[in-house]
Amino acid sequence: MSLDRFGRNINYLRISLTDRCNLRCVYCMPEDMTFRPRAELLQDDEILRLVRIFAELGFHKFRLTGGEPTVRANVVDIVRGISQTPGVRTVVMTTNGLLLARQAQALADAGLRRVNISIDTVDPEKFRKLTRWGKVEDVWEGIEAAEAAGLEVKLNAVVVRNYNDREDVVQLAALTQKRNWQVRFIEMMPFGDVADFQQAGIVPEAELRATIAEALGPLELLNGGALDGEARLYRLQDGVGRLGFISTVTEPFCAGCTRVRLTADGRLRLCLLRENEVNLLDPLREGASDAEMKALIEEAIWWKPWGHSLDEDVIPLNRVMSEIGG
Ligand code: SAM
Ligand code: SF4
Repeated sequence: MSLDRFGRNINYLRISLTDRCNLRCVYCMPEDMTFRPRAELLQDDEILRLVRIFAELGFHKFRLTGGEPTVRANVVDIVRGISQTPGVRTVVMTTNGLLLARQAQALADAGLRRVNISIDTVDPEKFRKLTRWGKVEDVWEGIEAAEAAGLEVKLNAVVVRNYNDREDVVQLAALTQKRNWQVRFIEMMPFGDVADFQQAGIVPEAELRATIAEALGPLELLNGGALDGEARLYRLQDGVGRLGFISTVTEPFCAGCTRVRLTADGRLRLCLLRENEVNLLDPLREGASDAEMKALIEEAIWWKPWGHSLDEDVIPLNRVMSEIGG
């Protein structure tokens, strides 16, 4: 078990497989983003060694993210390696879905259990604008392929004021009237150079719920308001699926946090919205033993920050989201 000094049991690792992406979502990275040389990123064997070490420290849930995890060469082998590691119970992925039509079955066969697929609007033209060049039809194909492969599907939408905060949110919520999906609305978070844009575009959860209720009828709170992971769940009156709200900025869930992140360049990031990181790549490459790596990780986790201080205007500036792994 890996405890931090506040008594939180940290057992969930999110791994950014690459900082690269086949899209350039406006709230995530600039259009002319420069990526790190591949040699600076964790190699496949380094990822699998770290996963084994984390699993020995009590971690059992692993999420692959990025950048876009499906653009990483050997992603299927990495999934297989992680899911076969003793102690690992769940391997899931966050993806934009563009490549799932080709990869979903192989990923499911390799041990992937669930995909969280990002789709911020069902409107093709708006989708293209938000992602700078994406085709929403490719995402639909990816969603269908994931379901056909037996993967559990959750849909994620980041809400940005004046882009997708009204009819798009309603259309996405309406999907749960027909499909047993969890559609989750994520408050935009501020990072690095684009923090001003992001802060201006935050749409609070209460406003979103009101918009949805006005168009589709009242929302019923589920689980007595207890969080499912980081999401608070609701159902439409005639809904078969569920609506989730992830309100990191306006209603932080730091007390229940169980996660840390591994960046594509091998830093252990202790809180998404804090700059604190510990370099694991260098000791790994300098020949540290498993025992030394474990001691380094345990010490880092002990000092995991309590949470973010966005309300005090403390904004993480050292990285953009795609490098950390959202
Ligand atoms: N490329 C994959 C995808 O888009 O799903 C995985 C990486 S992406 C960084 C992970 C999640 O973070 C996506 O759901 C994305 O919409 C979300 N995201 C990106 N930038 C964000 C921001 N500034 N605030 C909140 N969520 C953000
Ligand atoms: Fe790429 Fe995902 Fe960032 Fe969009 S949110 S640019 S798909 S990493």
